[in-house]
Amino acid sequence: MKLVCEWCDKSNVEEIEASVYWELPDGTRAIEIIGTPTHRCPDCNMVYQSELLIKEIENQLFLIDCKQIETVITFAALMKMPKLLKRNYFDCSS
Ligand SMILES: [Zn+2]
Repeated sequence: MKLVCEWCDKSNVEEIEASVYWELPDGTRAIEIIGTPTHRCPDCNMVYQSELLIKEIENQLFLIDCKQIETVITFAALMKMPKLLKRNYFDCSS
């Protein structure tokens, strides 16, 4: 399946891994998530994470004990961290 750029609708989007800085839900600090699946569009030069992935990261940060996160963490390690809650009480979109 060809990826389509969320910004310019062209389909030359490349899948790369990049570091992103993310503010924790409690706003106390920001962490660096390395190896994050990222899209890069050569047509409009946008480098971004898909909306789905952003939601996944935000959900995960709500569900885990953020105090356990080091300042720098890999995406894979972050997604593997044990969840504290059975469901996401903070997701009001559903
Ligand atoms: Zn684009």
